[in-house]
Amino acid sequence: MSLPRPLILVGPSGAGKTTIASRLVRGYPERFRFSVSATSRAPRGRERSGREYSFVSREEFKEMIASGELAEWAQVHGEYYGTPVDNLTGLAEEGTVPVLDIDVQGARQVMRRGIDALVIFILPPGTAQWLTRLTGRGTESAEGIVRRLHTAREELRKATTFEEHVVNQDLGEAVRKVLEIADGRAGKGARDRRVEELCRELDAGATAEIGRIRGRGVADEIRKEET
Ligand code: ADP
Ligand code: 5GP
Repeated sequence: MSLPRPLILVGPSGAGKTTIASRLVRGYPERFRFSVSATSRAPRGRERSGREYSFVSREEFKEMIASGELAEWAQVHGEYYGTPVDNLTGLAEEGTVPVLDIDVQGARQVMRRGIDALVIFILPPGTAQWLTRLTGRGTESAEGIVRRLHTAREELRKATTFEEHVVNQDLGEAVRKVLEIADGRAGKGARDRRVEELCRELDAGATAEIGRIRGRGVADEIRKEET
């Protein structure tokens, strides 16, 4: 039996990967399943082990690597993240498409292993909306945002190495586009030029925001010293 082709959503933090993945899984449970990654990072907010992630210690994660339990893994912002092999085989055998919300390094590892996956790069529609989404979750400190913006810039610079892109402006529309691509119904057209321009704009926006946060941080320190 041929296994369903995994769907991998990549893109900068705050682009909407998790939101799109959960729309797919909730909207089409007979077709899609969320691939729950293992991570060494601590749960945020209402996250529960086994639902958003399997939360494990760094030691447990290293044991998973050593025993070959992971199809891919990467260190992101100083923490370990990885996809259990079973997510790509066990779930797939049941006929559902595993949806992976992973970083660019992870997506490349999956492809290098010869796994035929569909990788879609998700982009926010502009800098202003992106920063609102990134900060609106309320889960990150200013330093956390700066770290994510740095990583995001690296990822944006690799965006055009992936074949498929979806700009997540209206959520419903973005989910429809992902489905069209997964069904092989999407035409290519003039998308690529727009994607390149958008990536450059977001890259510049991230650089400016990092400068603004850093500047504010320094100004705060000076004020503290003066009082
Ligand atoms: P990622 O997984 O790529 O880091 P999330 O899915 O966590 O991003 O989305 C970041 C924030 O943006 C969340 O608060 C989410 O609710 C919001 N969001 C996602 N897609 C949209 C959209 N199309 N319009 C407005 N807000 C969105
Ligand atoms: P967060 O801490 O915000 O949930 O995730 C941080 C980053 O780790 C995101 O870019 C996310 O896509 C990535 N990530 C989550 N799970 C995995 C995984 O299993 N493997 C890899 N390589 N990256 C992951």
